[in-house]
Amino acid sequence: MRHDESRALYDRALSVIPGGVNSSVRATRPYPFFIERGDGAHVVDADGNRYLDYVMGYGPLLYGHDMPEPVRAAVQSHASDGPMYGAPTEVEVELAEFVARHVPSVEMTRFVNSGTEATVSAVRLARGYTGRDKIVVMQGGYHGAQESTLVEGGPDSSRPSSPGIPASFAEHTIPVPFNDVEAAERVFEERGDEIAAVLTEPILANTGIVLPVDGYHERLRELTEDHGALLIFDEVITGFRVGGLQCAQGRFGVTPDVTTFGKIVGGGFPVGAIGGRAEILEEFTPSGDVFQSGTFSGHPVTMAAGYEYLKYAAENDVYEHVNRLGERLRTGIADIVADQAPSYTVVGTDSMFKTVFTREGPDSGDVGGAGEDSHVCDAGCRQDESCARYDYCPKNGADVANAETERWERIFWQEMKEKGIFLTANQFESQFVSYSHTDEDVEETLEAYKEAL
Ligand SMILES: *Cc1c(COP(=O)(O)O)cnc(C)c1O
Repeated sequence: MRHDESRALYDRALSVIPGGVNSSVRATRPYPFFIERGDGAHVVDADGNRYLDYVMGYGPLLYGHDMPEPVRAAVQSHASDGPMYGAPTEVEVELAEFVARHVPSVEMTRFVNSGTEATVSAVRLARGYTGRDKIVVMQGGYHGAQESTLVEGGPDSSRPSSPGIPASFAEHTIPVPFNDVEAAERVFEERGDEIAAVLTEPILANTGIVLPVDGYHERLRELTEDHGALLIFDEVITGFRVGGLQCAQGRFGVTPDVTTFGKIVGGGFPVGAIGGRAEILEEFTPSGDVFQSGTFSGHPVTMAAGYEYLKYAAENDVYEHVNRLGERLRTGIADIVADQAPSYTVVGTDSMFKTVFTREGPDSGDVGGAGEDSHVCDAGCRQDESCARYDYCPKNGADVANAETERWERIFWQEMKEKGIFLTANQFESQFVSYSHTDEDVEETLEAYKEAL
């Protein structure tokens, strides 16, 4: 595979763009391939190489690179009519109505321009609504490039995880380990009346894909309710992917007060959104006092793309298709892993999948020596306590960070790329099946995993 054009483009980019990229995860080693165009489930790079794509823009592209016809038509018409005005349009109302109809906890939605902006606004809203400053977040959780959540350390030792953030900001953020009920209880016992909100992804999806253990979100719901704090689900990645149109909250049956969205809800265009109960959302200006505004917010092209995207999913077998292929991939990879790398853990749900190169694990696929009868989650870790692999499954961000992350990045990812399979370049980011992927694509992918693992 030749990469001369990509190499030359990267060389130019390094002179004028910091690190040569506009989002840090794109700086793959030794240099990224530059994409010329998409084609269904594939991308073609500047040297004409074709890759089967499971990055899918890091989440937004539910349909792959070809827009369904109604999406294309709506995008083109709104782009040529405007493209934007600084005054409201009908399509913003249509999308907000659609979200309220399908997502259990949402009555009202404010649209913004990125997932980051959504979580920034949600944190401000929670602080304004409760009159409290502290936010509880999950270690290893991701809420975008925002000051309140770029923290590391434990509940009593939080510090900024990036230069440029005052240490005094991190004092207001309390990181706890995901899936650790006692840690959350302790924090509420000690500081419950200072906590504005718990902000968590329903599934840690930027850290290897970690599902909640039984009862975890239910307990967070009780704790927040008992202490007058809000529960905020960051569904930027799980929204309209896990659990279909009802999102992960519908699937888990836990109703947050506020939800943040992004990625799929903009149909491939820049987007974020904050949804929730009217009584809370109306605290935003101009109905309330918590400042929130944006030149491009509710952009008609984005709103049209998002609305047509979701309508198409409501009217076609989109989730059945992507979830079925996701299941086939996870089951197939789990079989390969059992043979070739039994310490590794297949993770994911619905149309998300990843293989975490966990270091600890049973030394054969015959977990616990129980033979054929031993129960394991065969399509990826479900955090099922009766599963023979349960103790080896990553439960939080630290477990994923302890995996063989360098092996993924320096060897496995590179080999898959050479085989024409484009995966997310580090151990932490999820991979996605789109409506454009086929059963043949899954077969090809499993063959490549078999050779590269
Ligand atoms: C992607 C993501 C964000 C950030 O969204 P951007 O649009 O990249 O700013 C926030 N939270 C979660 C859970 C995400 O997956």
